[in-house]
Amino acid sequence: MQKTYGYATHDDHSPLVPFSFERRDPGPTDIQIEILFCGVCHSDIHQARNEWGSSLYPMVPGHEIVGTVTSLGNEVTGFNIGDRVGVGCLVDSCRICPDCSDHLEQFCNAATFTYNAPDKMSGGSTYGGYSSQIVVDQHFVLHISDKLDLAAAAPLLCAGITTYSPLKHWQIGNGDKVGIVGLGGLGHMGVKFARAMGAQVVLFTTSSGKIDDAKRMGAHEAVISSNVKAMQKHRASFDFILNTVAASHNLDSYTELLKRDGTLCLVGVPDHPHPSPAIGNLIFKRRQIAGSLIGGLKETQEMLDFCVEHHIVSDIEIIPIQQINLAYERMLKSDVKYRFVIDLASLKTMG
Ligand code: NAP
Ligand code: ZN
Ligand code: ZN
Repeated sequence: MQKTYGYATHDDHSPLVPFSFERRDPGPTDIQIEILFCGVCHSDIHQARNEWGSSLYPMVPGHEIVGTVTSLGNEVTGFNIGDRVGVGCLVDSCRICPDCSDHLEQFCNAATFTYNAPDKMSGGSTYGGYSSQIVVDQHFVLHISDKLDLAAAAPLLCAGITTYSPLKHWQIGNGDKVGIVGLGGLGHMGVKFARAMGAQVVLFTTSSGKIDDAKRMGAHEAVISSNVKAMQKHRASFDFILNTVAASHNLDSYTELLKRDGTLCLVGVPDHPHPSPAIGNLIFKRRQIAGSLIGGLKETQEMLDFCVEHHIVSDIEIIPIQQINLAYERMLKSDVKYRFVIDLASLKTMG
């Protein structure tokens, strides 16, 4: 077994604290990774605090993992010691069901999430990337190009793929008008991807201080969502709106901005449900409300390659792990510019 250091929370209301545990020895198809950086996703807060009602403790969060390969099982192909690699939200799936066959492992009923999930291989629960190292089957390990800044690439593993995948699924391209709701970790990636795909991009925010940043990232326009007049100006004009908000809110102000057959896609997973949307807004223009969950492994590699081609990474604030509880408090105040990334070198002070 492999001694591993990290940070964990032990219940739904206590701060994260230093924690050590064991990882399995690498099997024939496993890759052992020294974790260098790990992004901080709002899902980490939801789960650390049991806001989705499915938390297993102790919990080591973190599913935006980048690092270097330190050892390889003897059946691993395509990876070498020292390679820069990433691990996102998934570490296993059944490989044979229709979802796995279609490269949509995220929808596999037997998918194993990177943390807070029963660990079918080692028993207990899976532990995530707020830790010194991880052992993952090669199918769930991504290649990270040398052309991407490694720390700024970490958030691509969740925030990146979660916004890229729906934009691709709904075939966003030149001439489409796309709205992104919320300029946090997911939202700022959504702005960058939608712009790179050729869309006319409008960012909706509750924070007046984020307007300039949204435009710098590629939004053609940024609208304060509480400004009714500014919202009205966009009525019935959007092909697609991607809503990344992490809190319960009224969806009607967005459904009415869609044109006929337009889609409001929800990726935020608030702890309390959104109020029921006005049905009239949907039926009169055949508008749709949809959802999307991260992305499969093949598409995640495609997204990473797209980022190299379009010079896209996340805007990050690097923190030592000792500041993780403070980072959570800042994210809850929408004060994140625009993803916290933990530098795991800070763990070494733990010995
Ligand atoms: P984040 O960095 O905290 O950003 C969320 C943003 O939502 C905030 O920055 C803020 O943007 C806006 N917001 C927050 N509270 C709001 C409120 N009460 N009303 C309106 N807007 C509000 O969070 P994230 O990491 O991007 O994650 C966002 C959500 O997506 C979370 O619920 C997370 O669990 C979920 N998620 C889903 C998937 C998936 O596969 N579907 C994957 C990853 C994460 P402004 O300041 O611009 O308003
Ligand atoms: Zn995430
Ligand atoms: Zn499957």
